[in-house]
Amino acid sequence: MNIIDDIRARQSELSRIRRDIHAYPELAFDEHRTGDVVARHLEALGIETHRGIGRTGVVGVIRAGSSTRAIGLRADMDALPITERNTFEHCSRHAGRMHACGHDGHTTMLLGAAEYLAKHRNFDGTVVLIFQPAEEGEGGAPAMLADGLLERFPFEMVFGMHNWPGLPVGSFGVFPGPVMASSDQWEIHLHGRGAHAAMPQQGLDPIVAGAALVQSLQSLITRTRDPLEPAVLSVTQFHAGEAYNAIPDRAYLMGTVRALSHNERDRLEHAIGVVTDGIAAAHGVRAEYTYRRGYPPTINDAAAAAVCAQAAAKVAGATGVLANLRPSMGAEDFAYFAQARPGCYVWIGNGPGEGGCTLHNPNYDFNDEALPIGASYWVRLVETALAPA
Ligand SMILES: [Zn+2]
Ligand SMILES: [Zn+2]
Repeated sequence: MNIIDDIRARQSELSRIRRDIHAYPELAFDEHRTGDVVARHLEALGIETHRGIGRTGVVGVIRAGSSTRAIGLRADMDALPITERNTFEHCSRHAGRMHACGHDGHTTMLLGAAEYLAKHRNFDGTVVLIFQPAEEGEGGAPAMLADGLLERFPFEMVFGMHNWPGLPVGSFGVFPGPVMASSDQWEIHLHGRGAHAAMPQQGLDPIVAGAALVQSLQSLITRTRDPLEPAVLSVTQFHAGEAYNAIPDRAYLMGTVRALSHNERDRLEHAIGVVTDGIAAAHGVRAEYTYRRGYPPTINDAAAAAVCAQAAAKVAGATGVLANLRPSMGAEDFAYFAQARPGCYVWIGNGPGEGGCTLHNPNYDFNDEALPIGASYWVRLVETALAPA
């Protein structure tokens, strides 16, 4: 492991920062304290700092040399509405809120790198440090983009990093192509005709229609999907009826679609509507279908991924860079940055994930051992991507 000496020397300081952020978790667009911790830290280092980008986002800018090249490094700052079950000293002071996804660690690793970069400036160009709010579903990345992030702080490539329980500490997952899935929601209202349960011929039963629909939707995954195109279609709610002896007049279904490509996502959005109309017609009920797009798939640019693999190897050695990993069907709003500019999102090992130390689990905690590793990676990435000519 080639942790940068200056960063290793600050390991306990990095742990202190990380545990402080962990103790005071804040939800989407409410990261006032966290953003303030970040901004004060950057300001104390003499780094040009901008608050309030995308509501609670913070941007730092570090320049060196004369090159006009620029890259963006992104960390997320928000926590989750989960009650922490850990009992250690730095556990959440905020009831019902928890850093269960390690964004406390992501923020700290980027701060650790910022300190080194500001001090040494071993690169030629501009580094834009992006501390984004609201990664967990609310879309802090698109909020920052809509707030003029790219116009105000232009960069040509963008990089993200997420801790990954199940990967050993000291390893990185780096590969081109899809890395995280899209995450969309759909809803279907079925309008039938209520009737006495003993006289079904007088009604139009939305429950039977809904049951048929649940079955038929699965065929979109098993029969009409290219088996080499990963996708998930889950029905997660089905509500209908109030009495044991009455056929209700409506049913409600909702669910989610996850896909690793834009094509498959588009296909499912359309195909759910077609199947719904067909099943509704067959049962004589009327259907209303809405599809709400969430985060797009996160797709790593090949050139950006090659730079990340180089930088990760400088820290973890060639054997610590794992390229043969499969994408996750979870979602990530770094996708919006990677749509705007060529980008790459890597995983950094968080350890075995035992004892509930898995993402979004009430017993999760970011592994402090990864802090100097991730901070060193960011520095090597900057030195690689913005190497002096
Ligand atoms: Zn998460
Ligand atoms: Zn996360």
